[in-house]
Amino acid sequence: MHTICGHYLWAGTWVAQADYALEHMVYDINYKSAKLCKMAAMEVEKATGRRRFCAGAIGPTNRTLSISPKVENAAFRNITFMELVGAYKDQVRGLVDGGCDMLFVETIFDTLNAKAALFAIDVFFEEYEVKMPVVISGTIVDMSGRTLSGQTTEAFWISVSHANPLCVGLNCALGPDQMRPFMTRLANCATCYTHAYPNAGLPNAMGGYDMGPKDMAPHLRSWAQDGLVNLVGGCCGTTPDHIKAIADAVADVKPARKIPDQPEYMRLSGLEPMIFTPEVRFANIGERCNVAGSIRFKKMVVANDWGKAAEVAQNQVYTLSSARSFMSVCIYIYLSYIYIYIYISRNSCTVMYVSPRMCIEYISRTVSDASCWCGWCCMRLCCSDRVYKYSKDV
Ligand SMILES: [Zn+2]
Repeated sequence: MHTICGHYLWAGTWVAQADYALEHMVYDINYKSAKLCKMAAMEVEKATGRRRFCAGAIGPTNRTLSISPKVENAAFRNITFMELVGAYKDQVRGLVDGGCDMLFVETIFDTLNAKAALFAIDVFFEEYEVKMPVVISGTIVDMSGRTLSGQTTEAFWISVSHANPLCVGLNCALGPDQMRPFMTRLANCATCYTHAYPNAGLPNAMGGYDMGPKDMAPHLRSWAQDGLVNLVGGCCGTTPDHIKAIADAVADVKPARKIPDQPEYMRLSGLEPMIFTPEVRFANIGERCNVAGSIRFKKMVVANDWGKAAEVAQNQVYTLSSARSFMSVCIYIYLSYIYIYIYISRNSCTVMYVSPRMCIEYISRTVSDASCWCGWCCMRLCCSDRVYKYSKDV
């Protein structure tokens, strides 16, 4: 069913329909596609007695938020985040009104586009008071194992895990013969179900796909057996025969994948994952670009002076990369009535519980220490209210 849906809705936003001057038709296209899919699903359900679902596929559009389409201007974008959110929201409305059972944000080559889609879905759910499962599907574009916007599969998962998807996985791009290592990495870190619906191989010189149903199905069977996936299917180049072969191949496979138990660490991601395990002894975090911590930086942002703001960030990167070993950092953590003061320097790490009065003393010392440019600086403002309040109590 998803195949029917996917083909219609790849270009289901005004952003993609603008190429055909059909922006005004976006709601109808989505609504009627979902309706057709749902009707077909119900027919098969009636005939077979097995429940069938209709998935509304939300594609990446033909514009990216992360990458400039102009080689001569890396900062240029042809769409904004909020424009994309609006476009996705219109699409979601059509799909949900048409009767979809779940939403697939798929073929994600730019995670920021996907975040716009996920945000649009959240906003829609809240406004229309509906809720349905969301599936997130990334696309690895080559053997580097990265999305087009540069993320590894682990980093990609961390970036979208806040959306609490029913399932996360990979689709499109590479054929199943090349996707296994990336699927393995995703299966090892994702704390939800995982899926794969690859292409029928890489496109050939004529833009066709050479992998037949019999070539493709064994790959997906072995992934299911080895516990890499909970859900399988086919993307570009696959036909109903492919889907049938894949369904038959996994019919007798007992679900082997268990969702891995991941310890609760802070997990961040850029292009690579950054996981704060106990083995990470020290992380130097720059805090110059924080409107709450730096009045100077805030003024630049308010004045739209992005050139100067970028310089601040750049200087910090230079400082960080030129520092031979880490500099001293102090952090205050406020825990109900107790402040924990942590001071980390080149040779020592001090943790102290301090009273609010002591805290004030430390603050005055820290603030006067011009060399300190740590996380504390941004906590100063939010902390100072409490310090003031409790200092009167002391
Ligand atoms: Zn595809």
